[in-house]
Amino acid sequence: MPKALDLTGLKIGCLKVVKRLPKRTDSMGHEWLCYCECGNQYITTTSHLNRKCGVKSCGCYVKELARKQSKKNIENATEETYLIASKKIKETMKKNNELVENTRLSSISSKKLRSDNKSGHRGVAFKDGKWVARISISGKEHYLGSFDQKEEAIVAREKGEELYFKPLIDKYKNKQN
Ligand SMILES: [Zn+2]
Repeated sequence: MPKALDLTGLKIGCLKVVKRLPKRTDSMGHEWLCYCECGNQYITTTSHLNRKCGVKSCGCYVKELARKQSKKNIENATEETYLIASKKIKETMKKNNELVENTRLSSISSKKLRSDNKSGHRGVAFKDGKWVARISISGKEHYLGSFDQKEEAIVAREKGEELYFKPLIDKYKNKQN
């Protein structure tokens, strides 16, 4: 067996070799206490330190590399990647008759309020001293009128739902899987 190399003080990759540890009977070679650039203490063997592969570290280097890689993947995710993903979602919804004529059936059938809604009624908002009723369908917004009374705006909105939403719901609802 060759005389053990003294690695004390060497800087190998991210590791600085501090000292040789007493040989344990069950260990193959000598073990070394190292300090890693990240601040961790790390114990490793002569053969690991001598092996010419990768950058030696306590493990943080590989982790950091993976983190950088995944960050890069996210950064490299182009608009195209997102478009493909969103197209897939739309196709699935279309297949289920959830997305019809560019409108989500569940969204027009539901009475759920948007988080920014202050009037407590969908499509009704107080603006410049008036209650304004609007309705959006197939990506287009329709103005339903401005009123002094909130109730009037609510009625206008309900009429709008009858006019714009109901035909679409009736047309497709029973075709849903
Ligand atoms: Zn480290």
